[in-house]
Amino acid sequence: MRCGETREAAGRVLPGALGDEIERGICAECWKEWLQAQIRVINHYGLRPALREDREKLYEFTRQYLGLPGQPAGDRT
Ligand SMILES: [Zn+2]
Repeated sequence: MRCGETREAAGRVLPGALGDEIERGICAECWKEWLQAQIRVINHYGLRPALREDREKLYEFTRQYLGLPGQPAGDRT
């Protein structure tokens, strides 16, 4: 796991490339921590996850929080 712990994997929690990365390297504990932190991020930035644009932003925060490099948001089609 990316956090260095030997723990149960988070599994398939998101679709797409980010979902693949999480499935490969993120444990269930870290994912749970992010779900808690995510609530504060959504409130702080006033994100509406129903909107694609806001969802993309949230995915970027997800990468940052979990330490996944990925691609800059603007490079995705
Ligand atoms: Zn972890």
